[in-house]
Amino acid sequence: MNSTPQHIVDKFGRVHDYLRISLTERCNLRCFYCMPEEGIELRDKSAFMSAEELIDIAKTFVSLGVKKIRLTGGEPLIKKNAAFILRELGKLPVEVTLTTNAVNVDRFIDVMKEAGIKSINVSLDSLKEERFNAISRRNYFQKITENIDLLLENGFHVKLNVVVIRGTNDDEIVDFIEWTKKTPIHVRFIEFMPFDGNKWNWEKKVSFKEILQQVTAHYGENGFYQLKDKPNRTSRCFKLANSKGTFGIISSVTNPFCDTCNRIRLTADGKIKNCLFSNDEIDLLSLHRKKLPLLPAIIDAIQSKDKKRAGLGEFNDKMAEKLQNRSMITIGG
Ligand code: SF4
Repeated sequence: MNSTPQHIVDKFGRVHDYLRISLTERCNLRCFYCMPEEGIELRDKSAFMSAEELIDIAKTFVSLGVKKIRLTGGEPLIKKNAAFILRELGKLPVEVTLTTNAVNVDRFIDVMKEAGIKSINVSLDSLKEERFNAISRRNYFQKITENIDLLLENGFHVKLNVVVIRGTNDDEIVDFIEWTKKTPIHVRFIEFMPFDGNKWNWEKKVSFKEILQQVTAHYGENGFYQLKDKPNRTSRCFKLANSKGTFGIISSVTNPFCDTCNRIRLTADGKIKNCLFSNDEIDLLSLHRKKLPLLPAIIDAIQSKDKKRAGLGEFNDKMAEKLQNRSMITIGG
């Protein structure tokens, strides 16, 4: 008897058991590819899920078969009562993970352990202080790199999210991989993706193929090897011989991985997004506040999911000009 609740299986047979929840649209960094230059409209807090509402809605998804919850933002750890949310979600029968810029992660080490968090993604787009501060428009490089060391010392599995942009940081790919030689750190190079206000164009993205060409040119064909794909993978992963860490490439633009997508997104204002690139959202928060059932809306969202990238077809400049979606800061990746 198939135990998977059919509610979270879409018409292509993909089981959606991974929920990404954005805790807030606010952030203590201003990364230019995420936060539009002009900033975003700051709305009254009533527009957003309270901690209790977020936990209630998350519990509904868990009852439907969600097995993994990733907390994102903006920056999740600046959310008022983030510690309470971590603890409460940590009590649910799910794997809880986090994507953070690590600026103040040092204040949450004990709470994260209490919540059973083992794996953390840290956004770090450059190993050069000046360049990092230019990309993020803030001066937290030292704090962040110290906190990455602190996370490793405390036994967390640390993945580094590096958005690779031509002419910005594409000359640091080997530097990041060198870090994996002696440190159990897992670098994830992310192809630059088009979102509202981030001035994306085809030329600026550095493709999976180009990244691999750079790696092969430096380490040689036999200097590294590919690791077995994980189920529902987003990144294709590799390892240098005898290294402690790994590196991978997340290629949503040139090499999408939608066939095994198991992801659903819940935005900070309580909307369900069935795909990162989909503009069709369903307002679960209003239903919840009216004490109406969420199940029909969740089923609708999953049953209306496209096979690939919200049906957008091939990515190119023309498509990006027409693309209607939120800014990355209001989705949470
Ligand atoms: S683009 Fe959409 S369908 Fe494809 S992997 Fe990402 S979220 Fe899933």
